[in-house]
Amino acid sequence: MKVSKTLILLATISMSYSCASRKEANPFLSDFTTKYGVPPFDKIKLSNYDPAVIKGIAEQNKRIDKIINNKEQPTFKNSIQAFDESSPILNRTTAIFMNMIDADTNDSLTALSMKLAPILTEQSDNIYLNQNLFVRIDNVHQNENRENLTTEQKRLTDKIYRNFVRSGANLTPEKQTRLREINKELSQLTLAFSNNVLSENNAFNLFIDKESDLAGLPQWYCQSAAEEAKTAGQPGKWLIKLNDASRIPFLQFSAVRPLREKLYTAYINRCNHNDQFDNKQIITKILTLRLEKAKLFGFDCYSNYSLEETMAKNSDNVMKLLHNIWNYSLEKAKIEVAELQQMMDKEGKAEKIEAWDWPYYTEKIRSAKYNLSDDEIKPYFKLENVRNGAFECAHRLYGITITPLKNISVYEPDVNAYEVNDSDGSQLGILYLDYFPRAGKKGGAWMSNYREERKGVRPIICNVASFTKPVGNTPSLLTIDEVETLFHEFGHALHGLLTQCNYAGVSGTNVPRDFVEFFSQLNEHWATDPEVLRMYARNYKTGEVIPDSLIDKIQKQKTFNQGFMTTELLAASFLDMDLHNLKTMDGYDVLSFEKQAMKNLELISAIDPRYRTTYFNHIVGGYDAGYYSYIWSNVLDCDAFETFIEKGIFNKDTANRFRHFLLERGDSEDPMTMYKNFRGSEPQITPLLKDRGMK
Ligand SMILES: [Zn+2]
Repeated sequence: MKVSKTLILLATISMSYSCASRKEANPFLSDFTTKYGVPPFDKIKLSNYDPAVIKGIAEQNKRIDKIINNKEQPTFKNSIQAFDESSPILNRTTAIFMNMIDADTNDSLTALSMKLAPILTEQSDNIYLNQNLFVRIDNVHQNENRENLTTEQKRLTDKIYRNFVRSGANLTPEKQTRLREINKELSQLTLAFSNNVLSENNAFNLFIDKESDLAGLPQWYCQSAAEEAKTAGQPGKWLIKLNDASRIPFLQFSAVRPLREKLYTAYINRCNHNDQFDNKQIITKILTLRLEKAKLFGFDCYSNYSLEETMAKNSDNVMKLLHNIWNYSLEKAKIEVAELQQMMDKEGKAEKIEAWDWPYYTEKIRSAKYNLSDDEIKPYFKLENVRNGAFECAHRLYGITITPLKNISVYEPDVNAYEVNDSDGSQLGILYLDYFPRAGKKGGAWMSNYREERKGVRPIICNVASFTKPVGNTPSLLTIDEVETLFHEFGHALHGLLTQCNYAGVSGTNVPRDFVEFFSQLNEHWATDPEVLRMYARNYKTGEVIPDSLIDKIQKQKTFNQGFMTTELLAASFLDMDLHNLKTMDGYDVLSFEKQAMKNLELISAIDPRYRTTYFNHIVGGYDAGYYSYIWSNVLDCDAFETFIEKGIFNKDTANRFRHFLLERGDSEDPMTMYKNFRGSEPQITPLLKDRGMK
């Protein structure tokens, strides 16, 4: 044994020597040679991205030329499919690059993203404004019936054709030139916007040095805050940050009102300090350019341009839905705020409830009403148990199994990889879970692809979040919110993993954005179902299954505070729509516009929109005129879950139908058609109102 160990060591040394003396191959330039074709994170260097993007662009141009110069009549295969498969190097590189920018960035990578963004936008414009290419796409699209195309092939053809039109292929040359300028500028502005939000998040530190200022905070929280302070070079103090895991519990538990106010105020004023990280000018410029773009295409406002390809279709339909729910939600929020005020009055404070008091008194009422505190619940929600619970649900519903993969290269030590297999043993894909916060990771949680599914190629998916970290001997214990987030992101992952499409352009989660949250939100319904809780929620110390009394309390408080939750969500959706419904930017001022928009809604003063304009990352990051998607999809998921309730939440027949008609289909058919195939009718709004306790 000793001998072979030495030999391996020698071999390693000589290999690394010979590698260092030669020019190392850029891993992006060919298919990854790793097992399962996963990204070789240990071999990827910062210096690989730039040349891979350049090579990727050259490769794509070559393949596009081949499509154009084909002497044969344009067909689905030689034009549409060839286009869908035209950029393997670029896809491989940008998929990893974009994921790293979100999950594991640093100053050099951020700087590189600023450099590459305009290059990638220009490439995209070069392709979508390429007249010779468009002629062939258009030809296949117009003559769809010449070939015997499947529904999926027709859908892909239509999607690609519409992408060309919406990217300006039908515009005059003058308008195309202007469109290019707009796109290039927008790509830089949107990146600068979200980089500013990240910088502000990281820059904020609230150091507490008096023990009395920890009043009300649970012990686990103080422990973790002490550890944060130590890492930040200030041992003996406690550090509070703006990320959810640090901010939310502080606002819920801190009895020190001025500190709550300080933290809350810092949070809602991100990128609003008239300094180098201020986003007011950037968002104004973004909105101005978007409006100009919409007008180039003959639309009166940006939202109608943006919504054309969604389930909602146009701004009117979105506004109608938002208004329909708004009155129910505001009414419930008003009842809630009165209760909070009463609670505050009882404490003898002759003060008015403010936004930074809402979580604190809500927590008090929650424990008084339901005698249920996060502290009591959390021991039953050890991260690993919750994760296994989500896996087990997927197993019982769809028969799939998820097994940890050892010896696989990851980009950070706390990232884990899994193999996902179908009931017949065939591989469905690879899943990465990256669950803990770190500097360089964006806030919030999301699912993404490293590789998209198409015929013969299985997807590589990741879930990223910032859950409470383990501290000392205490494992990561999740709040109910975090439990639901885990199930939510895993729902997206299932949508990505179970897809069975032939073409990447319509596979997996490549669906309209107001349809995509349906799958994740539906999966949340299992997270706190009594039957499911008994399956996975076990005390991390004793192994005891969660008692029925606790399950009962969890069920009873499901609709608690939903007035607030729905109202802040809708307020942000209205803000997003109002910004993109603008028909002129004359006289637009970020802060006064926002104030007026909330006044129009008669929003109560103790609630702010879930995101304010200067840090509303969704509306610059692909959810422009799209934040409503969450509530839109919520109508669908509540309606669909009724079907599961009818025959039992693990009913095989219902699960099979859901898998077959929806999960597997990606964007290969019209979403409403797929939904009706599963449900038998269009969704109704009542299940959502009931679910949120508003009816
Ligand atoms: Zn989601």
